Amino acid sequence: MKNETPSADPSISDLLKNRTHPLLSYEFFPPKSEKGMNALQEAIEGLLTTSPDFVTVTYGAGGSTRNLTFEIAALLRRFQYGPVMPHLTCVGNSSEELNHIADQIHAGGYRNIMTLRGDPPQGQEHFETAEGGLDCARDLALLLKARHQDFCLGIAAYPEGHPESRGEAADMDYLKSKVDAGASFITTQLFLENHHYYRFVERCEKAGIDIPILPGIMPALSLAQIKRITTMCGSTLPNALAEKLNAAGGDAEAAMNSGILWCTEQIIDLLKHGVPGIHLYILNQIRPAMAYQLAQTFIEMTGKGVQP
Ligand SMILES: Cc1cc2nc3c(=O)[nH]c(=O)nc-3n(C[C@H](O)[C@H](O)[C@H](O)COP(=O)(O)OP(=O)(O)OC[C@H]3O[C@@H](n4cnc5c(N)ncnc54)[C@H](O)[C@@H]3O)c2cc1C
Repeated sequence: MKNETPSADPSISDLLKNRTHPLLSYEFFPPKSEKGMNALQEAIEGLLTTSPDFVTVTYGAGGSTRNLTFEIAALLRRFQYGPVMPHLTCVGNSSEELNHIADQIHAGGYRNIMTLRGDPPQGQEHFETAEGGLDCARDLALLLKARHQDFCLGIAAYPEGHPESRGEAADMDYLKSKVDAGASFITTQLFLENHHYYRFVERCEKAGIDIPILPGIMPALSLAQIKRITTMCGSTLPNALAEKLNAAGGDAEAAMNSGILWCTEQIIDLLKHGVPGIHLYILNQIRPAMAYQLAQTFIEMTGKGVQP
């Protein structure tokens, strides 16, 4: 590899400020098998023409896929996907190691980081603070901003509450402290009914949180998949969606179509409400991303423009 200094990504904060349309972002994750890697490669190649405004790559629980996170981020950069935002968590690293990782990310030209506490590694029930490490995303935000002031930080929030929530009021106070620590935008946990998002945005406004809040949307691919995920993250699985997925019986294709149609309707409604963007948990597949294209086509055909 040539020893060139990579150019610095623009900050997502600037993209949000200067947007002329709602931003579209995709989230990729590091796969655990060769088959998964091939599927990811296919998705990366296939989705380029859909021109997302930025893309993100998750950081494996317990840092298990850390190197892969950065390899995939580098691959996305080579494909010229626009700003690539690696996720970073507190799990398993001391503050000194986190500073070192922050330097590597910065040197790689990345300027945007999804800043997280992280989930415990597999087999571990509760989050454990690493020796000399950090125990929450707010402190990671403080560390990253102190290390490189030009980092633009995204943070996570939970419209239906985090499984470890200490109550709505405590959540909001804590979220505000993450924003005050230097975050520039929020991406939400997945929700399958938009009223959860609208209510959450209202509560944030009342609490004086005025950074953009990107709704995180995940298509259900099967009843078993969405049940597993919603149970894990605490989001509600609406009966109407469960029934549609159930009605597909063993027809995987029909179930996927129902899930994608459901999230297309969510996106249409969100875009009509003037959201700053849509963050799609695309599960390393091409078809889920089509929900956004379908939603846009629907809006154009019905003649209702979307304001940024
Ligand atoms: C958009 C998005 C991307 C994600 N990407 C990844 C990833 O790449 N890798 C990964 O491992 N996980 C990822 N996760 C999952 C995330 O790591 C878990 O949800 C984790 O359990 C919490 O991380 P956090 O950054 O939200 O934690 P924190 O913000 O530190 O806290 C989570 C919750 O705990 C409570 N809490 C914490 N501290 C306080 C306090 N002082 N006072 C009151 N309440 C408090 C609040 O309810 C808060 O919402 C992602 C989640 C989202 C929504």
